[in-house]
Amino acid sequence: MTAFWTAPDFDDHEMVQLVHDRASGLTAILALHSTHLGPGAGGTRFWHYADGEDAMRDALRLSRGMSYKNAMAGLPMGGGKGVILAGSDRIKTPEMLAAFGDAIEALGGRYVCAEDVGMTEADMVAISKRTQHVTGLPSADGAAAGGDPGPFTATGIYLGIKAAVLHKLGKDSLAGLHVAVQGCGSVGSGVARHLAAAGARLTLADIDEARAARLAGELGAAQVPTGEIMDVACDLFSPNALGAIFDDASIARLAAPIVAGGANNQLARPEHGPALAARGILYAPDYVINAGGIIAVTLEYLARRSGEPCAIAEVQRRLKEIPARLSGIWQKAEASGLAPDQVADAMAQRLIGR
Ligand code: NAD
Repeated sequence: MTAFWTAPDFDDHEMVQLVHDRASGLTAILALHSTHLGPGAGGTRFWHYADGEDAMRDALRLSRGMSYKNAMAGLPMGGGKGVILAGSDRIKTPEMLAAFGDAIEALGGRYVCAEDVGMTEADMVAISKRTQHVTGLPSADGAAAGGDPGPFTATGIYLGIKAAVLHKLGKDSLAGLHVAVQGCGSVGSGVARHLAAAGARLTLADIDEARAARLAGELGAAQVPTGEIMDVACDLFSPNALGAIFDDASIARLAAPIVAGGANNQLARPEHGPALAARGILYAPDYVINAGGIIAVTLEYLARRSGEPCAIAEVQRRLKEIPARLSGIWQKAEASGLAPDQVADAMAQRLIGR
C-alpha cells in the first residue's frame, strides 16, 4: 500500500486522521486540506470502498475539492471531508455516529460536518448530540434555511446549466433541449425536476433502476441502463452520481456539447479537463456549479453560532451568483486558451494562498 503522503492525491493536506472505534466498529477518515480561509467544512460520505487505499484517495480528493469549492463560493471556510468506511453489510449504527461525532468534537471546530452521499439529515441530528460542529440540520422555522443541502445544490446546478446553455448554444430557454442525467438521488432528482419544469426533454439513468424508473414516470422522461447514459446524443450531459467519470475512453464517447452536473471530482485526472475542451465540450467545473449545498449549510452553521436564524433570502442571493461565476471562468478560459477547470483551479489556489 502506498503511504498516503506520497500518493498522487496528497496535496499538502494539513491533517489526515484515521478514526477507529473498536466498540462501535466505526472506521473513518477525517481529512483537512486547508484551513487558510476558515474551519474545514465539507460533507461526510458513508460508502463501502474496495479497500482502504480507495477510501483514502476519496478523502484526499474530496477535501481538496472542498477547499476550492468554499473559496470560489466566497465562504469563510476551508476544505475538509469525512469518509466513513461502510462494511460490506453497509450497516450504520447510532453508536458509530456517536463515535464519529466524538471524533469531530475532539478537533474543536477545525472540521464542520454535513451530509454527503450515504448520509442523511437524521444522521446529522445523531452526530449533533455529540458535537456542535455539524450542520445540515433540520430547521424548526420554515423561513430559515437548513437541513438537507441536496435541494440547494440542485438549484445552483440548474442555474449553472442555464448559464452553460446560453454560453455554448446561445439559447436563453431550456424548452425542448435534451438533457441526459446520470444519477437520480438527492441532487440528480432535484436537477431533473427543475429541468422538466423548464421544458427540457430528459433521459435518466441510475444504478438503482427502480429509482430512475419512478422519476422517469413522474417527469415523463426516458430511461436507459447506466452503461448507456454517456452515449446518449443530447444537448447537455449532467453527471450527478459519483466522481472520476471522465477519462480517455468516456470523453471519446461523449455525445453532448456541454457537461454540467453536481458530482464531485468528475475528472479522473487533471488532463481530462483539457481533453473535454479539445473536443469542444463546455465543462462547468464541478466544485463551482455544485456549491449551492455548502453555501446553504455554511450559512446555517454560521447563523446558529451567532444565534441568528439563517435567512433563506441570503442563501438564494448567493445561489444566483453561481451562473455569473461560471460565465467568468468560461470567458477567462477562452481568452487564455486554458480549460475551464484549469482557470478555476488557479483562481481557487490563489484564494487559499497556494
Ligand atoms: P445520493 O446518494 O442521494 O444519489 C446518488 C445517486 O447516484 C444514487 O441514486 C445512486 O444509486 C446513483 N449512482 C451511483 N453510481 C451510479 C452510476 N454509476 N450510474 C448511475 N447512477 C449512479 O447522492 P447526492 O447527494 O445526490 O450526490 C450526488 C453527487 O453530487 C455526489 O458526487 C456528491 O458528492 C455530489 N454533491 C452532492 C451535494 C449535496 O448537496 N448532496 C453537494 C455537492 C456535490
